[in-house]
Amino acid sequence: MTRAVLAPSMQCASSVAELRTLLNAAREAGRRIGFVPTMGALHAGHAALMRAAGAGGDLVVVSCYVNPRQFGVGEDLERYPRTPDVDRRVADEGGVDVLWLPADRDVYGSAELPDAVTDAGPLGDRLEGAARPGHFDGVVAVVARLLTAVEPDVLYLGEKDYQQLVVVRQLVARLGLPVSVLGIPTAREPDGLALSSRNAFLTPAEREAACAMPRALAAAEALVADGHTSADAIEAEARAVLDAEPLATVDYVQLVDVDGLERTASLDGPGVVLLAAHVGATRLIDNRLLTPPQLRIEDTP
Ligand code: AMP
Repeated sequence: MTRAVLAPSMQCASSVAELRTLLNAAREAGRRIGFVPTMGALHAGHAALMRAAGAGGDLVVVSCYVNPRQFGVGEDLERYPRTPDVDRRVADEGGVDVLWLPADRDVYGSAELPDAVTDAGPLGDRLEGAARPGHFDGVVAVVARLLTAVEPDVLYLGEKDYQQLVVVRQLVARLGLPVSVLGIPTAREPDGLALSSRNAFLTPAEREAACAMPRALAAAEALVADGHTSADAIEAEARAVLDAEPLATVDYVQLVDVDGLERTASLDGPGVVLLAAHVGATRLIDNRLLTPPQLRIEDTP
């Protein structure tokens, strides 16, 4: 059953002016605004963000916009999946109040949105940023514009794109924006593969091979549960699983701290292991938060 049966239907906007008209009415009625920016091709991972945004009773705004500036030369901008009918359905069923579908001119051609923010800072050049030069500059450029248009109270981002979450937290702090940034845990297929719009590119054999990603994370987690804290050992454990998969080519496996994503030699506090690998022609990323056993709350008597 769609939500439309139970509640007023979702409203759609394309221009910034249309969006603001809808949001101002809600604001004047005292509603807080929760915002979920996406590139469309909506799936259950996006729906988890929508549910989290709706849980607090806020007005839920979702944007679907494939941001050309975050794709490098030779990346998959042209073939990135675009599924507007599915997006409308998933958003409606996900309890979204306002679906914003801007065109390029609405995001980059609008004099109302800032043009000043184009630099992700030093973190933008490492890990994903090293593999995809300019990617995070494109991310902060679009996020700064989307936040200016929506002016949300809470911004919901997936932990699936962990580095993006940290880059955006840093952006919000740098600009002094009055918005809370919440990271939402990764939604996964039953076999552990993180949901991603790019999974649609995988052939059946590659789809099976992609399970090496969650297996590598589980191996790292098991090593930590056994009391190992050496970053070299944890990374080697995860890498061995990926290396054993003939269709996977590792880009990086790195254990880093949760806030600044600096490599840590030893897991003495909460950390996150980040993976990137090509499976066939498709680049996949995943990560897992790791906590040494002595710091786990459930282990304390
Ligand atoms: P995208 O459309 O891929 O740019 O993603 C839009 C938002 O959804 C980002 O904040 C992503 O981190 C988040 N997201 C994507 N996949 C997942 C997932 N499997 N679980 C949770 N959040 C996700």
